[in-house]
Amino acid sequence: MSPFLLVIVVVVLLMAKRLADVYTGGEYACPSCGARSEHRHSPDCPWGRKS
Ligand SMILES: [Zn+2]
Repeated sequence: MSPFLLVIVVVVLLMAKRLADVYTGGEYACPSCGARSEHRHSPDCPWGRKS
């Protein structure tokens, strides 16, 4: 395997891990109040109000 291909594989793996973190909430941060979890928004945060 060429070094170039190896770099591509590593980048793809990193992106896959980042995507998995986003979907599992590991890297989630509210753009408005910076909450790390869906249930920890500040009271006046527009993202925390769901019907
Ligand atoms: Zn929020």
